[in-house]
Amino acid sequence: MARAVVRLSVHPPKEYEESALGYCWRGSIVSGRKRIKGLADYLVERRTLQPPWIVPANLRQLHARLAPVLSSADEILKNHTCIPALMPFVRPKHVAALLNHLLDGEHVRGISAVVGFSGRNIESRPAMALCLECVRADRARGGVAYWHREHQLPGLGYCPSPWHTSGCRLRTVPVFASEQPQAQATAGFLLVRPATCFEPS
Ligand SMILES: [Zn+2]
Repeated sequence: MARAVVRLSVHPPKEYEESALGYCWRGSIVSGRKRIKGLADYLVERRTLQPPWIVPANLRQLHARLAPVLSSADEILKNHTCIPALMPFVRPKHVAALLNHLLDGEHVRGISAVVGFSGRNIESRPAMALCLECVRADRARGGVAYWHREHQLPGLGYCPSPWHTSGCRLRTVPVFASEQPQAQATAGFLLVRPATCFEPS
């Protein structure tokens, strides 16, 4: 039996420093998709997009699927992933192989160690982080709150936004790869439109 074609029919405008994974979920919601199965295959030829997707793969294909909203694979890498914060810790001899993985999905052995983490930190944490101050600020500014990439850095703990006057503790939200993005939205973790906004508690 042929596999159902999964695609995003709507590409919403990207948000400032929006997590690439969060953008994919948001696109899925506004496209009216009821199921998330097959989305990872369509976007990056992977079985799943494992939250928080700290080390993404196949960004060239992701760019092709999401164009023209995201202008290049390089833009996704630089503006919508945590990789720029991790790159200074990558040994020079591993940089080329890591980039091949990020852009073209080539396998890299021990990739979590390459980016400076134990496997547990980046591979077994099916969760996303958010900052309530940022949620409020996003809503006040444009009515859309979204997953910020900088909140997803493992071990961060506090929101690094320069706009906050005091340290704002990040909240960790369990989110599973198979979970419907709509469920996240109605739980108030991913806020799509003002009409569907909920205050996370
Ligand atoms: Zn914040």
